[in-house]
Amino acid sequence: MTSISPEVVRRVVERVVREVAARPGVAEPTELPSDGIFPDMDSAVTAADAAWRQYLDCSMKDRARFVKAVRDVALVPEHLERMARGTVEETGMGNVPDKIAKNRAVAELTPGTEDLTTEAWSGDDGLTTVEISPFGVIGAITPTTNPTETVINNSIGMLAAGNAVVFSPHPRATRITHWLIREINRALAEAGAPPNLVVTVAEPSIENTNAMMQHKLVRLLVATGGPAIVKAVLSSGKKAIGAGAGNPPCVVDATAEIEKAAKHIVDGASFDNNLPCTAEKEVIAVSCVADLLKFELTKHGAYELRDPDLIAKLEALVVDGRHPVTDWVGKDAALILKAIGVEPPAGVRLIIAEVPFEHPFVRVELMMPVLPVVRAKDVTEAIDLAVIAEHGNRHTAVMHSTDVNALTRMAKRIQTTIFVKNGPSYAGIGIGGEGFCSFTIAGPTGEGLTSARTFARRRRCVLVGGLNVR
Ligand code: NAD
Repeated sequence: MTSISPEVVRRVVERVVREVAARPGVAEPTELPSDGIFPDMDSAVTAADAAWRQYLDCSMKDRARFVKAVRDVALVPEHLERMARGTVEETGMGNVPDKIAKNRAVAELTPGTEDLTTEAWSGDDGLTTVEISPFGVIGAITPTTNPTETVINNSIGMLAAGNAVVFSPHPRATRITHWLIREINRALAEAGAPPNLVVTVAEPSIENTNAMMQHKLVRLLVATGGPAIVKAVLSSGKKAIGAGAGNPPCVVDATAEIEKAAKHIVDGASFDNNLPCTAEKEVIAVSCVADLLKFELTKHGAYELRDPDLIAKLEALVVDGRHPVTDWVGKDAALILKAIGVEPPAGVRLIIAEVPFEHPFVRVELMMPVLPVVRAKDVTEAIDLAVIAEHGNRHTAVMHSTDVNALTRMAKRIQTTIFVKNGPSYAGIGIGGEGFCSFTIAGPTGEGLTSARTFARRRRCVLVGGLNVR
């Protein structure tokens, strides 16, 4: 039996409703609210452009109301649960409680219109302001690892800055992204927003992403993902923000509070099964504290693999040359242990293994709860190794130390966008650390943790000879 896609059914129903409503004697057809999902990229971008033109006439109060509508729809408890469960089911990655925490953080802590501040100069010659204005239609590419988090995060920031957005989700997260975009459209319609401020296509694909990148009505590209998509947007000829791969090292020196450090490392590296680009991906510990650290890690939910044969078996299972094996990305630690024939202890959250620095576990961005531990002779060597392991991504690094000079040296040497000291990596994105939340961290292009002001143009407005009241 041939199956008919829900998208086709929806369009047929819409057409029939319109035709019936248009018959003589039947009341004026009422505009059907758009769900934001379009059959092809051209119609999605064209609709978003029309929405943006209407959006220009809305007030800042309207914008704030629409941003609140996006936050509120994400924060409905059943929606948080649905996003987390739906993503784990569809992508096969991560875990439900941590995905709920991530979606909640992004809905609550992404800055809105308050992020847009005006600069002004006044003097004898008058008044000049620089205001933060929209680009228009933004093309946003989202990853499998944080599909709903990135849509919520980008929608809030991009709408707050006055833009419309076309999303190009990862094909492996289509269903949950469609569900969220429908809910956002429903919430925006109820708040009185122009239709189609947040749209996507029925069938996300690399071809559709390319069509979006080339579309003349798309004024800014924002890519959240690995090196290929960051390179693609930067080669597009358009203004682009690239939020690329990380491989965050975590240095532990001899002055660190080891028990606290171990808890933070397990919490950070097991968060959503190590999917976040910010999560600790390798630990480099000064030799004199390495054994104590490993012991404390195991006390907080890590399982140490000691047998070299088992470490080799794990490597063969999860590493494919310079990449992780997709089937094992974001899987539970217990499942990974079972696959190599180890009975997982109850409550295991993370697998650790002491390996030499050259090991693929250190080099490859694994994105799973497998954390290599490397020994360094002193803090200078630990920092040097951390810089190499980070691959110059300028993304995230973590250090546990009470030596201010060592912390400063590491920060200067590693040049990452986020540097977390004495906490779990997720403190760097506002979860248990000060500062706002973002899931689009633009290391390669330098915007840092993106927010409304990043998705905007600076426009100077000059009034000559007046409005200076000093
Ligand atoms: P991915 O690069 O495979 O996919 C990301 C998006 O880009 C998807 O929508 C995908 O369809 C698209 N894409 C990838 N290659 C493309 C190409 N050649 N042409 C057109 N579209 C292309 O990444 P992923 O596996 O979904 O996510 C994990 C990666 O993203 C990791 O490297 C992680 O570090 C990174 N990431 C970075 C940030 C950040 O803020 N810097 C946030 C999340 C994830």
